[in-house]
Amino acid sequence: MTAQSEAVLVTPVAVRNFVHRTAQQRVVFGGGTRRQIAEEARLAGITRAMVVSTEGQARRASELAELLGDCCQLRFSRARMHTPVPITDEAVALAAEHRIDGIVAVGGGSATGLAKAIALRTDAVQIVLPTTYSGSEMTDIVGQTADGVKQTTRDPKVLPEVIVYDVELTSTLPALVSVTSGANALAHALEGLYAENGNPLIALIAEEGIRALASALPRFSQVLDDMEARSEALYGAWLCGSVLGATSMALHHKLCHVLGGTFDLPHAETHAALLPHTIAYNAPAAPAAMARAARALGADDVPSRLFDLVRGRGAPASLRALGLPGDALGRATEMALRNPYWNPRPLERDGIRALLDDAWHGRRPESTTTS
Ligand code: NAD
Repeated sequence: MTAQSEAVLVTPVAVRNFVHRTAQQRVVFGGGTRRQIAEEARLAGITRAMVVSTEGQARRASELAELLGDCCQLRFSRARMHTPVPITDEAVALAAEHRIDGIVAVGGGSATGLAKAIALRTDAVQIVLPTTYSGSEMTDIVGQTADGVKQTTRDPKVLPEVIVYDVELTSTLPALVSVTSGANALAHALEGLYAENGNPLIALIAEEGIRALASALPRFSQVLDDMEARSEALYGAWLCGSVLGATSMALHHKLCHVLGGTFDLPHAETHAALLPHTIAYNAPAAPAAMARAARALGADDVPSRLFDLVRGRGAPASLRALGLPGDALGRATEMALRNPYWNPRPLERDGIRALLDDAWHGRRPESTTTS
């Protein structure tokens, strides 16, 4: 070996350094794919299925039960946001009584949360048919609430084995839920771009997910069943959910967790109201992530673009509008500083308090562009 090549080997140049884990999931995407559910259940080895949903999606659950035929043993349509443990206990008892070996969930993160909570306790196989953009189906994370406290568990048993994305199922999603659950998905991708354990493949997925969602969401203000836009949004949601499943989240998700779990704020709306402000806080410490996000959004000023994307579509633009009392901001700040976690910018009490104040008032974030 020459002296020159030795020098190349020992010089600490900027070498890529990452780990990428590949999740074991089967993803079926298209229009009308729910009609393949009996075959998907057979391929997954399910012989006795339980269909779960929220009350609002009970009609969809009935349709799936019919499509499953003899394989469906039972329907349970009492899934609720934040996955309350007493409801899970009831569903698990019914599953045992009916010797269920597979859960088919249709709906948003609430139905998926119940399927995951059952699988955590029984290891039943899960097939999820998502009807919102919140992305829970792509993760091994479940948040459960008991006695007013929401706790998050990450466990391989929780990861759904099969995802059947049927664009037709999203055509009824109201404009408001479309944009708020879309903001939830954008948050996964944006935090994935600066995640401590991100990697080049995840960055590509995140950028494409942001692009797809940001291009589709504005189209739902006029027409709910614009199927091309629905397809693009669901595709974006899948990508953003994959980013959440592969990385650890930072300040934005932590604050949403605090506001949802402790102050009972609605999940997706909280993401929508907070996202421009948490990204504005982290932007100076994450220039490479912001460059990708700017490219995906077609705008230099990422926080302002996010603010316009959400506010322009009628989502509540402030934490005050979501019902958070002004005197909760101090407590929320302290809770965000507890149990330190990784964030691209150090967690500064004054800065976090100021961002919460901006989000509470619904102020437009200050420009982060340097030019
Ligand atoms: P959701 O599932 O609570 O649904 C919101 C409302 O929209 C419900 O009333 C539902 O019945 C209705 N709805 C859903 N799809 C519809 C459709 N196609 N047409 C008409 N109405 C429809 O909302 P969400 O935002 O998807 O989920 C929120 C929950 O998901 C929270 O509990 C959150 O913690 C969890 N979540 C978990 C993860 C994870 O990785 N663990 C990720 C994101 C969200």
